[in-house]
Amino acid sequence: MAGQAWPVLGSSGSAPNQCMLPGLQDAHGHVLELGWSISSVNLVGASSVQEIIERVENYVEARPDVLADEDLWIEGLGWDQTRWSPPIFPAASDLASSRLLANRRISLRRVDVHALWLSPRALADVERGARFPRPDQDVPGGLVVRAPDGSPTGILIDRAMEFAYAVIPSWTDEDRSRYLSAAQRSLLEVGITSVGDAAADLDTLDFLRKRDAQGSLAVRIYGMLACPANSARCSDEAARRGFPLLPSPSASNRLTVRTVKLFADGALGSWGSAMWDPYADRPASNGLLLIPEADVQPLIQHWVDAAWQVATHAIGDRANSIVLDAYEAVLTSSAHEGKDLRPRVEHAQLLRLNDTARFGSLGVIASMQPTHCTSDMGYVEHRIGLERSRGAYAWQSVLSAGGLLALGSDFPVELPNPMHGLYSAITRLDSQGHSPHGSKGWFPKERLTRAQALHGFTRAAAHAQFEEHISGAIHPNFRADLVVFDRDVMDEGRTSPSQLRAAQVLYTLVDGHVVYASTQR
Ligand SMILES: [Zn+2]
Repeated sequence: MAGQAWPVLGSSGSAPNQCMLPGLQDAHGHVLELGWSISSVNLVGASSVQEIIERVENYVEARPDVLADEDLWIEGLGWDQTRWSPPIFPAASDLASSRLLANRRISLRRVDVHALWLSPRALADVERGARFPRPDQDVPGGLVVRAPDGSPTGILIDRAMEFAYAVIPSWTDEDRSRYLSAAQRSLLEVGITSVGDAAADLDTLDFLRKRDAQGSLAVRIYGMLACPANSARCSDEAARRGFPLLPSPSASNRLTVRTVKLFADGALGSWGSAMWDPYADRPASNGLLLIPEADVQPLIQHWVDAAWQVATHAIGDRANSIVLDAYEAVLTSSAHEGKDLRPRVEHAQLLRLNDTARFGSLGVIASMQPTHCTSDMGYVEHRIGLERSRGAYAWQSVLSAGGLLALGSDFPVELPNPMHGLYSAITRLDSQGHSPHGSKGWFPKERLTRAQALHGFTRAAAHAQFEEHISGAIHPNFRADLVVFDRDVMDEGRTSPSQLRAAQVLYTLVDGHVVYASTQR
């Protein structure tokens, strides 16, 4: 291990319970969005529309530049209508009730980033956009929520969010630099040394490559290319700009790009996940397929033929079946039989019970987020009923059928702290020790052991990135990416689940260098 002097752990006898683990890997997060979220209005946990209005007001009042300029866009993240009663979507008019906010451009992302809530002025800007649909026009893979008179309420879902993103100023490299710095700080302080960056456009990948060349990536980033919405097969453009980008064994690069991210459906919280049967609490809806069903397999085939790993977002049980069918067809085709393709399903959140075993039998990686389970479990049964909930976040079923489970947090949708992920994985309880099914956890048979959960945040996440031979374990000739905790998080006798959840990182090392050291060590 190269690098600076390194204290010998426990040698003084003062802290014998500390433990060292391989650097933790978040298989699915959003790096720049994490930095962006830190500088945006934080709406996570807000329990009423009024509380959200107050948080936005406080944000504006605390920033003289924003306060003085009514034309600036104000962005926020984290609202969740399931937290208030009745659990209905907010509307643009709600934001007009505040004198401070009434004439401002405000865009607030739902906690799952699959819906936007716009202020009246922001909505007016978006409606003036060239492609904004008339009331009688459907949006493929998206929805403009409308009042009975046909006027938009200010909520845009999934593909309809693109009408807003076309109007909101896009990020400059200066913005990206700020977001990257903030994100790296908050990842290293929770022991994360490698991230699957689960949707990066070509400009972002260009930016990350420049930063990598300058040596300013402190965290390893496994970038997953997200093509523009109107160009789902952007592999030629990607090739023109130098992607895929594989690390050369001799170089110290920390950016790898060999994966494309596809989106098969929306998310559960906004009724966007594509289900076989209608939602229990919205019988007229089965959710949204973001790729027409007939296009899923040809699109995956295109990317596999172009030698990219494919990672497809699928949350609803129908989206998961369709994606597994498509992967099966590609994996068993004569052109690709026997190749090490490692296709991934991102989220794999709601599964028909007979689909849980297909991850193992097909060799499809399930990239799942334990904290999504414990954040969502309060409303899942209401939304899809008890029977379908048995296949929700079915980690143990996927594993016991031989599937590979790469774990992550989907930050900034959830906090990046992997100890929160381990806690959720081993308990299926919220942070207070509660679940809709009591203190044993929600569908406790799907809980993971500590070792299984740690495997998901290390070895399996490394495998999902073709790096199991150099990463995800403490081993000679592996990368010296390490994390030291203030307690032995793997010792079930001495560290309870809630103590595990509260564990603090003392040191984080990348390539043998201390890149984070706690002031409390
Ligand atoms: Zn994500």
